[in-house]
Amino acid sequence: PQPVVAVVGRPNVGKSTFVNRVLGRREAVVEDVPGVTRDRVAYDAEWTTRRFTLVDTGGWEVDATGIHLRVAEQAEIAVELADAVMFVVDATVGSTDDDEAVVRLLRRSGKPVVLVANKVDDERTEADAAALWNLGLGQPWPVSALHGRGSGDVLDALLDVL
Ligand code: GDP
Ligand code: MG
Repeated sequence: PQPVVAVVGRPNVGKSTFVNRVLGRREAVVEDVPGVTRDRVAYDAEWTTRRFTLVDTGGWEVDATGIHLRVAEQAEIAVELADAVMFVVDATVGSTDDDEAVVRLLRRSGKPVVLVANKVDDERTEADAAALWNLGLGQPWPVSALHGRGSGDVLDALLDVL
């Protein structure tokens, strides 16, 4: 069986856009409205010579209630079932309390984590990505899921932990 990679993070950070970038096609639903992806959705993906299952999840809000709580539970299940996690943060916003709560949960999971510093559309935003070293998850990989910038490097980093 191929390894499973969960893509998690707050709503609207670009998880589904990133998944589509990796797939090379538009399958994951991208919306300007937060919280559109309700469930775990698994896709077959590959990078260079490796195949893996990529699992898109809904936005992870930590003190969620109602539907948002169910979405958060699905993200937690995705982490439990995964061999590795891609944690997506909006580098232009920086780390929030919710991001830090997710970091604690990821630590407890013991799963290898690749930190995707998304929305780094140009060189000016690189410094925002570097600020995410403060999450304590190692190297933040600057990526623009929208334009494709940096996606090869972060996928190489993923293969290193798979
Ligand atoms: P999700 O809720 O985390 O799955 O986020 P989506 O993939 O649905 O994206 C939310 C919004 O962020 C959409 O308007 C995307 O077009 C936008 N977005 C995603 N990735 C990028 C990026 O790399 N740069 C910029 N500027 N916008 C992005
Ligand atoms: Mg989504």
